[in-house]
Amino acid sequence: MKNILLLGATGSIGDSVLKVVRQNKDSLNLYGIAAGKNSTKVEEIIKSFSPLNIFIDDEDACKVVSSRFPSKNIFNSEDELLNLIQASEVDIVISAIVGFAGLKTSMMAVNAGKTVLIANKESVVAAGELLMSAANLSGAKIIPIDSEHNAIFQCLPIGQSTESVNKIIITASGGPFLDIPLSKLSDMPPEAALKHPKWNMGSKISIDSATLVNKCLELIEARYLFNLNEKFFDLVIHPQSIIHSVVTYIDGSSIAQMSNPNMEVPIANALGEECRIPIKYEPLNFADLELTFKEFPKDRFQLESLAREICNMGGSSGLVFNAANEIAVESFLSKHISFCDIYEVIYRTFDSISLSKPSDIETLNELNKEARMEAHKVIKSLT
Ligand code: NDP
Repeated sequence: MKNILLLGATGSIGDSVLKVVRQNKDSLNLYGIAAGKNSTKVEEIIKSFSPLNIFIDDEDACKVVSSRFPSKNIFNSEDELLNLIQASEVDIVISAIVGFAGLKTSMMAVNAGKTVLIANKESVVAAGELLMSAANLSGAKIIPIDSEHNAIFQCLPIGQSTESVNKIIITASGGPFLDIPLSKLSDMPPEAALKHPKWNMGSKISIDSATLVNKCLELIEARYLFNLNEKFFDLVIHPQSIIHSVVTYIDGSSIAQMSNPNMEVPIANALGEECRIPIKYEPLNFADLELTFKEFPKDRFQLESLAREICNMGGSSGLVFNAANEIAVESFLSKHISFCDIYEVIYRTFDSISLSKPSDIETLNELNKEARMEAHKVIKSLT
């Protein structure tokens, strides 16, 4: 039996993890959860899965849930969360808190030497160097949940050697505005940008998919997770979202991972580690399958170039990119800026901040505050 600590249990990834756990109750146990403020959903999870330990970031939500479940260990102190992450009973930590807010706990889990299933791509983008070197020191095993990275993980040999890799193709569905040129997107409202044709996800990643910033975050994420130069990675549009990534080897063989777009598939793979665990899934109907591909849109060339530059620069560059994007997405969702302003906020913030090589998480937190303030300034100048 593996004990799981699910961070971000009330979100979209949290939902998918719970579905996989429900189908594998004989081998997976939900030992603990962490959530932001959604007390209703936390209560539902407690009733269905009975986790022993529950962290709720919001103080009021924490009080409400504690009063209803007095026998459970329900808390909102960070020290207790750290103790929980470090507990010897915890076998697997799933990092699925959205945004930079997930970095602290991703780092705690990596420092504790746990098997860490990473969905929270923002923490890898912002702190890839620190996270990967902490994992080397502690012996933590990092397994990606993001479907593209999990696909690469599955296409690489056991042990993840990239020695014979020639190219890795990361596919992108293209989001809800596939085929609409950037010049026609400026008036797109959040409601339209949130409607992803293939995936049902949280609001932040849905907007990232619509802008294609998501693919750039994934490129940077892949650079760190697989320790390869950005030149190894191509971004390709694949509207059906059936092939999630392809690894081409030096002998000309390409290995692709395929499944219907459903996050339970990469989650089950990651939870199974080297063994496959069963889930109910919709099989691919190969006779009817039509797979198409096209190049990453040329009008997003500046965005892709910036992401590639960040892969090469390292240091605080990913953090600044991520912070500017998080603030821009929040501002777009609350209708303060237009869809195309998201790119402006990213580019201008990036140009105004001097980059550095942070060596610890405290410095990263300070730089994150600085980058977010700069992004707010850019937004003010745009509105
Ligand atoms: P959601 O917005 O659906 O969920 C976010 C989760 O984070 C919620 O459980 C929320 O709690 C929790 N949370 C937010 N802030 C805090 C905090 N300070 N402390 C504790 N918990 C917090 O996001 P998704 O599930 O869509 O995405 C999660 C991560 O996974 C993101 O990094 C995303 O990029 C990545 N990802 C998501 C995919 C998807 O299909 N959704 C695919 C690949 C990657 P609450 O709701 O209670 O406030």
